[in-house]
Amino acid sequence: MVDADWGGHSGSRLGLDIGGTLAKLVFFESEIRPSWCNGRFAQVIKSLGVQTVKSEDDREFRDFVLSRQGSFWGAQDKELSFYDEELEGVFHFLCFQTDKMERFVALLAAQDLHHQIDEIYTTGGGAYKYSRLFSERLGINLKPVDELGVVVKGISWLLRRPISDEVCWLSDEPPKSPNFESECHFLDSANSLFPFILVNIGSGVSIVKVDGTDRFERISGSALGGGTFWGLCNLLCPDCKEFSEASCLAVAGDSSKLNLLVEDIYGGDYELTGGRKLPGTLVASFFAKAGRNGQAHDDAAVLNALITMISQNICQIAFLNSKLHSISRIVFTGNFLRQNQVARQAIATNMRRVSGAGLAGKQLHALFLEHEGYFGALGSFLHNVEVENAASKVPTCQRLPTLLGSMQSPALANALWTSKRTSLLQRTWNTFNRCLGCRESDESKQARLGNKL
Ligand code: ADP
Repeated sequence: MVDADWGGHSGSRLGLDIGGTLAKLVFFESEIRPSWCNGRFAQVIKSLGVQTVKSEDDREFRDFVLSRQGSFWGAQDKELSFYDEELEGVFHFLCFQTDKMERFVALLAAQDLHHQIDEIYTTGGGAYKYSRLFSERLGINLKPVDELGVVVKGISWLLRRPISDEVCWLSDEPPKSPNFESECHFLDSANSLFPFILVNIGSGVSIVKVDGTDRFERISGSALGGGTFWGLCNLLCPDCKEFSEASCLAVAGDSSKLNLLVEDIYGGDYELTGGRKLPGTLVASFFAKAGRNGQAHDDAAVLNALITMISQNICQIAFLNSKLHSISRIVFTGNFLRQNQVARQAIATNMRRVSGAGLAGKQLHALFLEHEGYFGALGSFLHNVEVENAASKVPTCQRLPTLLGSMQSPALANALWTSKRTSLLQRTWNTFNRCLGCRESDESKQARLGNKL
C-alpha cells in the first residue's frame, strides 16, 4: 500500500532548465510508484503539447487544460521519451517558450500540482529570473544549479544507459527521405566519449572541454547562436511564426542567389597552391549578393542562408578549439539543432572540410546527440534526486496520512513508510551512482540487493 502511494518529493521527479528562449522540462514517471502526486502530475504533464487524443476521457481532460491555458505549449517530444528498465519508469521531455512561464506557473497552480513541492533545483538563467514568481505563486523555492555541470552530468548519465541510437554522425550523401534516420550513423554506445569538446548551441553558444563527468571547463563561446537565428528570422521572414516551420522551409531553400560563391568570383573551382581545390559551390561570403539589382528573395532561401551561416561559423570556432586542446571528438547539442536538418548537415559537412583541409588533416565527424536540448533539464533531474537522497527529508504527499491512517498502528505504518521510502531512494541513488561509474559501498549494495528480494 505504501509502495503504491509513494509520493516522495515531487521535485525529485522533475528536471527544469529555464533558458533564454526555451524552458525544458524532464519528468520521470515511475511505474512502481504511481502515487497520487506522481499520477496526477504525469496526467497533466503528458497532456501538454500532444496533438492526439486516445479516448473521450483524455479528450475531456486535454480540452480542460487547453481551454484554461490556451495552447501555448511548444511540444512534448514524444519520440525522445524512453522507458528505463532499471529505474522502472518513463522519462518524458517537454519544452515551451520561456516567456510563457507565467502561464506554466498558472497551470501548476490551477491543477494544484505544487503543494507538495518545496524546492526544485533548476538550471538556466530562469532559475534566478523566475524565482520570485515561483515562490510567490507556488511557494516553490527554485534553487539554481550550475548550467554546464548539469549538462555534462546529463550527457554522462544518458550515455551510460542501455539505450541505443543516442550519438550519431551524418554522412555527406543527401538524405534518401525526409526522415532524419536515413543519413545518420549511430555510434556504439559502449564506447566512452571522453574527452570531448562540447558545443552547446542554445540562444548563445558555449564551448566546453569535457574530460570526465566532474572534469570540465568552459573554453570558448559565441554570441552568434540560435537566438541570433531566431531573431533574424522574425525580422526577415515575419510570416514564419514557428521555429519548426522555419527549419523545414530552409531545407528546400536555394541560397545561391543570396550568397557569393567561389564560382561567382573565379568562374568555377579555384585551385589552391599545393593542388587542393576550393569548389565553385563553396560560399565565399554569406548574403553578399542579397538585394542586388532590387532582387527579392523567398523566405526559404533566406532561412537556408541564415542557418548555414550561423552553423558554419560555430563549426569553425569549435574546430579551432578542438585543435587548440588536441581533442578530436566534438559533440554538438542545444535546441538550435532541434529538427534542424540544414544546421546539422552544414555542421557535419563543414567539419569534414575544415578538419581535412590542413596538411595530413584527418577528417573529423561532428557528433550529434538525440536528446540534444534536454541535457540541462536531465542533469537537473539527477541533481534533484541526489540532493533529495542526501537530505532524506520526510515526504509531504498529502494523501499519505489518510492511507497510512487506515493501518492498524500508526507507529507501524510510519516505520513501514520510512523504511520503504529509504530503500526506494537508496535504490534510485545506487542506480544513478552505478551509472555514473561511482563505486557502490558494501552497505548500499546490501540495501539494493535486499530490495530485489
Ligand atoms: P536556451 O537555454 O538559451 O533557451 P536552447 O538550447 O533551448 O537554449 O535553444 C534555444 C534555441 O533553440 C533558440 O534560440 C532557437 O534557435 C531554437 N529553437 C528550437 N525550437 C524553438 C522554438 N519552438 N521556439 C523558439 N526557438 C526554438
